[in-house]
Amino acid sequence: MIVSVPKETAPGETRVALVPEVADRLVKSGVDVTVEAGAGAAAHHPDSEYVEAGAQVGDGWSGEVVAKVAPPSNDELGRLGRGSVLIGFLQPLTAGESVRALAEAGVTSFAMEAIPRITRAQSMDALSSQATVSGYRAALIAAQQLPRFFPMLTTAAGTVRPAKVLVLGAGVAGLQAIATARRLGAVVQAFDVRSAVKEQIESLGARFLELDMGLEDAEAAGGYARQLTDEEQAKQRDLLAVEIGKMDAVISTAAVPGRPAPLLVTEAAVMNMSPGSVIVDLAAETGGNCELTEPGETVVREDVTIVGPVNLPASMPDHASSLYSRNVQSLLELMVKEGELSLDFDDEVLAGACITRDGEIVHEGARAAAGVTA
Ligand code: NAD
Repeated sequence: MIVSVPKETAPGETRVALVPEVADRLVKSGVDVTVEAGAGAAAHHPDSEYVEAGAQVGDGWSGEVVAKVAPPSNDELGRLGRGSVLIGFLQPLTAGESVRALAEAGVTSFAMEAIPRITRAQSMDALSSQATVSGYRAALIAAQQLPRFFPMLTTAAGTVRPAKVLVLGAGVAGLQAIATARRLGAVVQAFDVRSAVKEQIESLGARFLELDMGLEDAEAAGGYARQLTDEEQAKQRDLLAVEIGKMDAVISTAAVPGRPAPLLVTEAAVMNMSPGSVIVDLAAETGGNCELTEPGETVVREDVTIVGPVNLPASMPDHASSLYSRNVQSLLELMVKEGELSLDFDDEVLAGACITRDGEIVHEGARAAAGVTA
């Protein structure tokens, strides 16, 4: 069986689906690996490392399984053979058209986003592995942009107070942002609508920001947040506007799967911040948690710098690719039996992650996104 790895072509995508170390493990397990020339170059893995690992350099689209990072472009879709298996981030809840095209092309596709978040599948959880990178980078961006120190310093020239950082949304990215900002010495507070995270926030040395929203708990299925009602959201924004005004930096990571990001930071809240303050909005790609965010841009409004990074994992391609590759390897281990491709759709992980199969869209959320009625 051959797993092939194309070079990513999406603008700004620097990651590669399999790093040489993981290619080596696959080869040793009896799976052949073919990588397109230069596939790992932007992640700092030259072709020679893949050759050393026992992989071939050749057609990245030729495998029975094609492992990718970003969703395939229209051109790339044409290179996938009927009956081939595609693994990657496929945006099943939002990219209806490309999911339809995958079904029409007869591709059996598995979305890394759709892997059930159950204990057994933790090693395949690419949302978590990449969110870890994003959260870390977001804290570094905030520290870099802030014209002040993060840590408290006692110097001969006087004492510097530590920066106050607020993290909104304490999922995987938020928790990593908290940990990183803490390591840099900031005083960190964090808020989430899921009360279960209070303990996790506190275990990282941050304070859980209590907002008197009259909200019981907004945890929905699978450990995700539910969408708040309009009234709840308005109340949250008003209460947050006051707290945000006390901060040097805000890192916002709030998301609700398959929906636009909740708006948490209004223009009025930005105006409350002191000159020189910073907002890093990790939700920029899905509409932004801040009203003034421009995706992919850094804007300055009323002397507050608002950074709206897109695809942050691609800004750290070496480790982001390593973690992603291990996620892919774990998924492949479920798909390959004695060196042969063997897809067991009774397995809840494979069944949950499968988006298209036998010419049909089989994933419920993807069917809705593609406008397929039952
Ligand atoms: P996510 O990226 O969907 O959302 C980020 C955070 O934003 C979440 O913590 C969410 O509660 C929060 N949020 C949503 N609306 C908000 C609002 N209006 N105000 C403030 N915060 C808001 O989430 P994620 O990081 O991918 O994962 C969330 C949770 O899923 C995890 O913390 C965990 O409980 C669960 N999870 C489980 C597993 C597993 O069991 N294998 C793996 C990963 C995650």
